[in-house]
Amino acid sequence: MTLLVFFALLLSQLSGCARKPQCPDKQMPYKQTFQAMGTFIVITVYAPPGIAAEKAAQAAFQEIVNVDQLMSGYNPRSELSRINQCAGKSGVAVSPQLSEVLGRAEYFSRLSDGAFDPTIRPLVNLWRSAGRSGNTPDADDLADAQSLVNWQLIQTKTTGNGQGGTVSLLQPRMQLDLGGIAKGYAVDRAIEKLKQLGVTNAIVDAGGDLFALGSHPNGRPWVVGVQDPTREGPVLPDLLHLADMAAATSGDYRRYFEIDGKQFSHIIDPRTGKPVEHIASVTVVAPSATDADALATTLTVLGPEDGMALINSIPVTEAMMIVRQPNGNLVTHRSDGFEELQVKNELN
Ligand code: ADP
Ligand code: MG
Repeated sequence: MTLLVFFALLLSQLSGCARKPQCPDKQMPYKQTFQAMGTFIVITVYAPPGIAAEKAAQAAFQEIVNVDQLMSGYNPRSELSRINQCAGKSGVAVSPQLSEVLGRAEYFSRLSDGAFDPTIRPLVNLWRSAGRSGNTPDADDLADAQSLVNWQLIQTKTTGNGQGGTVSLLQPRMQLDLGGIAKGYAVDRAIEKLKQLGVTNAIVDAGGDLFALGSHPNGRPWVVGVQDPTREGPVLPDLLHLADMAAATSGDYRRYFEIDGKQFSHIIDPRTGKPVEHIASVTVVAPSATDADALATTLTVLGPEDGMALINSIPVTEAMMIVRQPNGNLVTHRSDGFEELQVKNELN
């Protein structure tokens, strides 16, 4: 985890009584920062009287830890790792949570014609070791890794009634990687937990993937800033107004591989086997953090034309994409309804 990741957080701009202790009759926020899934998790809870905000935030964080334990690619005992260890051999019984995320991942793979692919890991590993050695992968290794990436070779058998099921990777050496969707899902689970505990106004922000529950207690939507991809710290003048909505940002300034002094995105285009170039950042607003997270990764691969066409075909979902031109200039693309989420210069 790096400061780079920390500064890449979508910055929640809490307004109104949250910053004005002279309103003692209004709800006060409880805010706690945790660490999980390689990032900072900031949970802000406005608890109605009688609800223990601190306990609610901790229970919400525990949900995130649970998701990480199931879906981490680093933990050899996670369900995800067991599926990878059994690739080409046998199916593995999985939890309802992993089944659900995989179902959503497959949905976005189909929708994007494979631009989003949860079996991307052999290519991610190849480029990660290229980053370590400083040499770009050779063509044979690239072709080999690419041949292992195919979301259509994931076989899922669900047992029904939300009880999980069995997952098999049909080809040896295939590997799942839910890095493009699991953080958003963890945010959704944390929000569900807060709702169960009676919380009606909260933000759960997991390093750029967030859900704004309810509205700000002042009655207005939450106002959320988007990190400027070119500078650490400041947010863009485009602010998002969110009420019961999620936002997720993927950016090439956040995590990357470096080869020969050049930075390569950690998002790989499965069609070329190579890291995506020229996309500085993508922010997606959607009704769930799972979808916002997966779509931010998907749009990074699809680029502005196909990406915006896809977003404009999905109801209640908007996006903003910042593209680097060959001369270094940045061009911003917005989906048809994105402007309605923005209020310019509200911070100034
Ligand atoms: P983060 O928010 O952690 O930066 P993103 O949501 O931007 O993550 O997704 C990047 C991660 O998604 C990569 O680290 C990798 O694990 C995974 N990934 C990379 N390329 C793809 C792809 N084409 N489809 C699905 N997942 C991908
Ligand atoms: Mg993502």
